Amino acid sequence: MELLNKKLSNKDKRSMQDDYIKEIKDNDFLKYMESIGIKEEFRIRYLYRLKDAYLEYKNCSTCKNLKECKNETCGFRLIPYVNDKSVTFSYDACKYETKYLDSSKYQENVTMYETPTSLKEASLKSIYTDDKNRVDIIKFFKSFMDNYPKKKTKGLYLSGSFGVGKTYMVAALFNEYAKKGVKSVIIYYPEFLRSLKESFQDDYKDKYREVSHAPLLLIDDIGAENITPWSRDEILGPILQYRMEEGLPTFFTSNLNLKELEVHLANAGNSVDKIKARRIIERIKEVSEEISIKSINRRG
Ligand code: ADP
Ligand code: MG
Repeated sequence: MELLNKKLSNKDKRSMQDDYIKEIKDNDFLKYMESIGIKEEFRIRYLYRLKDAYLEYKNCSTCKNLKECKNETCGFRLIPYVNDKSVTFSYDACKYETKYLDSSKYQENVTMYETPTSLKEASLKSIYTDDKNRVDIIKFFKSFMDNYPKKKTKGLYLSGSFGVGKTYMVAALFNEYAKKGVKSVIIYYPEFLRSLKESFQDDYKDKYREVSHAPLLLIDDIGAENITPWSRDEILGPILQYRMEEGLPTFFTSNLNLKELEVHLANAGNSVDKIKARRIIERIKEVSEEISIKSINRRG
């Protein structure tokens, strides 16, 4: 058996050597191997992988965009990493794929419901240079980024009038985290409630679960919804309870500050409503810090 193995492997070696001699008649392939500085011993052992890598290299040298990609995995190229002792191969993203990853693929990490698609482009850079009134928010974002996800960190309850950029700023923070691979969800709260109400059982459960479990959540425009005991006690309350227990940072934007939101949540109801509203406010305070923004209306 041992002898057979040896014979086989010798035969294999011989045939690989033959193949090698055949292959290096292709002068460009030979030059390619010289250019990566691979020893002859390895050239023979890894001949077929090297040939694949060379063909992908050739494909890339004339390729103009991802649509034209001829490689086995679109946007990736087999690359040999060579040193004195070994050769390893890896599939690396090509320049077009890298650009694509940098520019837009990260956006898939932010799920937005009923919010303007322009928020996908929101970026922290434009906030930093922008407006002196936002210093508190910028400070908050900086400390948030120093801490999250390493430590348990609270989100933000951002109140202020219509059009001052509340939604934009939180979306910009989420986009920053998306680039690091952190997933987030943004819901326009009044519409989220409407669509939840109309959903069938399974869809309802999925939506509810996605929102309560999101690593980062923005409940956008809370306070603009019509209050019903269902939305307050069956939806908002349990979502906040879950996020509080799991230590998941939650962000809110609202035209109402927390005091005004409490009145809104009580919906001018009886004392039971007041207690329930109070409880929601307490949970909001557990998952977020409140900042009020006074600034100019940016909707033009
Ligand atoms: P709010 O949520 O406070 O009502 P938005 O976040 O919707 O306000 O912002 C209002 C408008 O201003 C939007 O069109 C948004 O894209 C734009 N905007 C807000 N902040 C910025 C910013 N820092 N840079 C560029 N555009 C901004
Ligand atoms: Mg908004």
